[in-house]
Amino acid sequence: MPEQLRRTKIVATLGPATDSPETLERIIHAGLDVCRLNFSHGSAEEHCERARRVRETAASCGRFVAVLADLQGPKLRIARFRDNKVTLKAGQTFVLDAAMDKEAGDAQCVGIDYEQLIRDVTPGDTLVLDDGRIEMEVTAVDERSITSTVLIGGPLSNNKGLNKRGGGLSADALTSKDREDIVTAARLGADYVAVSFVRTAEDMHIARQLLREAGSQAGLVAKIERAELAHDTDALDAVITASNAVMVARGDLAVEIGDAELVAVQKHIIARARALDRVVITATQMMESMIDNPMPTRAEVSDVANAVMDYTDAVMLSAETAVGDYPVQAVEAMDRICKGAERHPSMRQSGHRMHESMERVDEAIALSAMYAANHLQGVTAIICLTETGATPLLMSRIKSAMPIFAFSRHFTTQHKVTLYRGVQTVPFDSAEVAPEQTNALAVRQLQDRGIVSPGDLVVLTKGDYVNAQGGTNTMKIVRVNDDIR
Ligand code: PGA
Ligand code: MN
Repeated sequence: MPEQLRRTKIVATLGPATDSPETLERIIHAGLDVCRLNFSHGSAEEHCERARRVRETAASCGRFVAVLADLQGPKLRIARFRDNKVTLKAGQTFVLDAAMDKEAGDAQCVGIDYEQLIRDVTPGDTLVLDDGRIEMEVTAVDERSITSTVLIGGPLSNNKGLNKRGGGLSADALTSKDREDIVTAARLGADYVAVSFVRTAEDMHIARQLLREAGSQAGLVAKIERAELAHDTDALDAVITASNAVMVARGDLAVEIGDAELVAVQKHIIARARALDRVVITATQMMESMIDNPMPTRAEVSDVANAVMDYTDAVMLSAETAVGDYPVQAVEAMDRICKGAERHPSMRQSGHRMHESMERVDEAIALSAMYAANHLQGVTAIICLTETGATPLLMSRIKSAMPIFAFSRHFTTQHKVTLYRGVQTVPFDSAEVAPEQTNALAVRQLQDRGIVSPGDLVVLTKGDYVNAQGGTNTMKIVRVNDDIR
């Protein structure tokens, strides 16, 4: 029996805790599929350096790891504390002061990076800090500061996020910093770029245009974290359709909509994304306690497993890997829990598009291949010869236990598909192979890796013109070790 290939992908945020060459190598070995560079922290040079090192380390491990550049967006943040961290007590007064020294915060006051906030809040509003850990009620606002009473206290450290309960802050999705960071993302060769606090499909069109102008073909991820989208399926669908992937950005989303509806909204976003042939990442606080513990809590185990069973494409680690004490264990725990949840029989039963018609030939082939692979006894793998990765994307919208191998000669495609559930990259230069030998050589690759054995059936898809885009029009079922043509 070959080792169980994990289908659900792991996105992990890089940071100081993953910077040592050993740790980076260990998280890649533990199963990292996509590394996230969080543009809310760190300089452009740091991000470029991290991307370069991930590329280098992944290549030396023979692994494919995509780079996701996550733009900060109009996220409001406090500035920094003299001692990096303070503890706030319920009932005390705390001041956010736009005019004070940004490095000189203490337990009574701290700077803010976004002065517009002062115009957006009024006394009586609730401000929520650090993804909901701290709450304070605004008691007074003047031209330079906001005074509030702490409702829920606790530790507070540098640069933590700040939201207004109920949403409605006026800022645009793409700030001037984001526009500069898009150029950096293009320069460091990001495979994906995530846009924060997306409000409309137009935000995604603008981001795409800026990215293309900067010379990047990266896929775009819309972070769903505004109350406006969570409650309006048409608006949500429009944003999903304008994107290549979405992220259920539960940190800010839960702050805006409250925690009561969060789980139902997560399931809805995942279902909409998959129905619209888009990819979905479930993010934030998935293994939060592993920032300081080598083991997840039962609740975290359950959260990750549930996201897998909702059929998310990927689960994401944030502070757990970026600044936590146990980054390697966090990736290992996710790997283990994803595989365990994927063994459940319900994870193979698909009702996708059962009663719908189709428009595209490649779609018909992709879905037929999945149907054959799921139902024909003896099939152990799917080989998909692909230029852009469009066919494996369509295939991976179907629930299945069958591994989908995306054979591609393009660096971009080899990396983009690392985010798709159930899809594995196999580098394969079809342009270098005689057409009548392509099938046999492709099957041979899987046999050499111990994935298929003599007698197994393999479902194979490709286009007549193997090196043309969007041309998949053929499905073939071949038996390993037969004379394959
Ligand atoms: P962030 O996005 O960590 O950049 O805020 C994720 C989230 O809000 O959950
Ligand atoms: Mn967020």
